[in-house]
Amino acid sequence: MSEQPNKLFQAYADKENRVSRQALIDVFSESGIRSDDPRVVSLFKLLKKNQTLAISQGLEPDFITPSEFGTLQEISPTLFENVLSGQLAIPQFAEFSQAVAKIFEKVEANHEGHLANYIPQLERVSPDKFGLSICSIDGQRFDIGDSEDFFCVQSCSKPITYCLALEEQGEAVLHRYVGTEPSGKTFNELTLNAKGLPHNPMINAGAIMCGALIKPGAPPSDRFDYVMSKWKDCAGSMKIGFDNAVYLSERQTADRNFALGYFMREKKAFPKDANLQEVLEFYFQCCSIEVTTQAMSIIAATLANGGNCPLTGAQVFRPDHVKNCLSLMSSCGMYDFSGEFAFRVGIPAKSGVSGAIMLVVPNVLGMAVWSPRLDELGNSVRGVDVCLELVSRFKFHTFDSMLGLRDDRSDPRRNIYDSRLGGTIAFCCAASEGDVGEMRRLVARGLDPGACDYDRRTALHLAASEGKVASLRYLLELGVEVNPMDRWGNTPLDDAERQNHLDIISVLTEHGGKRHDERRSRL
Ligand code: GLN
Repeated sequence: MSEQPNKLFQAYADKENRVSRQALIDVFSESGIRSDDPRVVSLFKLLKKNQTLAISQGLEPDFITPSEFGTLQEISPTLFENVLSGQLAIPQFAEFSQAVAKIFEKVEANHEGHLANYIPQLERVSPDKFGLSICSIDGQRFDIGDSEDFFCVQSCSKPITYCLALEEQGEAVLHRYVGTEPSGKTFNELTLNAKGLPHNPMINAGAIMCGALIKPGAPPSDRFDYVMSKWKDCAGSMKIGFDNAVYLSERQTADRNFALGYFMREKKAFPKDANLQEVLEFYFQCCSIEVTTQAMSIIAATLANGGNCPLTGAQVFRPDHVKNCLSLMSSCGMYDFSGEFAFRVGIPAKSGVSGAIMLVVPNVLGMAVWSPRLDELGNSVRGVDVCLELVSRFKFHTFDSMLGLRDDRSDPRRNIYDSRLGGTIAFCCAASEGDVGEMRRLVARGLDPGACDYDRRTALHLAASEGKVASLRYLLELGVEVNPMDRWGNTPLDDAERQNHLDIISVLTEHGGKRHDERRSRL
């Protein structure tokens, strides 16, 4: 370890200049970073190994010395620093997870809906299954319920198939074969757009078409291997399965998908040399891929993170392709509920008939919910419920960033103390500069104009001491307290008198401004 004092070490060290081994482990787990996270596996191994070694050498096993700390830090320096300094996508992850657990418990009571029954395999799943997983773009993870059960992805494969086709063909070429418009019809409706092409990649016809554009001409086995390897890359190497019974069943009861295929072939929609049987089989294989909600949340987080898997750093898809994909998930991802979902939830999502919903909060997190009972539109009842509950508590709707929007939902992206104080400090700065426009915008965002900083200085103090009459008048119009005392007992009038700002003194006095001695005597 260098002679430079290590600020991270010091922040966690006790009087004897050592850090508790358990405290370090706890910081990681409370941040949502798992010990099996590929970025920290060796760090956790070393932590354990050093502990055992210390025991065998008769040394203190429960505390970490500065030099051991330095070695641990070097394993994954950026993540280590971000975890210990609380600079992750969701700073208060433990609180956030608790709130999500509450949502889960509430939604669990909902037993409405019916299992998909177009193939027997989906009807055999236990209807009460319910799993939910979250992975942030920094790899903070939370799971609850049946999050380790495998289920087939069904239509949740469509965003991935689309991204793979985009990576290979590029936007310009791919969209010669498939549109970007919601169809306004059910996902397997026998319909094409005015050009004789599938309306979009999120419905069956579009996904069948995108599949035809992934490694066309390669042997089916290689194409399958390729797709599976990409799913695995998205999932940070978590296990991805395949349900052969579902695949065989899909293939056997595929009249509608065959009809769509023939319809597209009749319209000459496919790239030349496409083999219809193979194209459809490939589509059924994609629907039969199996994941857990854990893996699916990591896949969703990869999309939320611009195509970069948070756990491995692998850039699986280009960010512009992910942007395309999220746009289409927003408008077409939830079957005939897509418009209403965009309106009420406002988060890109994709649903599958197995009861899965993959949700992508861009630049924040990915979420997967699995509960097999479906509503009449084919969406998981509990899945939709979870999404609605999520935005009723958190500002995750795309347009929750709207200026002037005021409500008491929280924004888990922000550190509560940072945002509370950060806004106040910005407001005080604006007041001291006389920037009433900025002050107004901050108030419009819900900032309390009477709020104080850690020295109990308010915007009114700053306006008074800097002689900014416009700021002062605006604050008084808002009805802030005229005589707040800062940590040293000074009122705004004291500040104005100290600086001899006569105009300020007179405005304050008009409004009942007092000096601290007058104020004190009255208290
Ligand atoms: N395998 C189903 C089909 O093609 C997938 C549909 C879905 O999840 N909506 O009909």
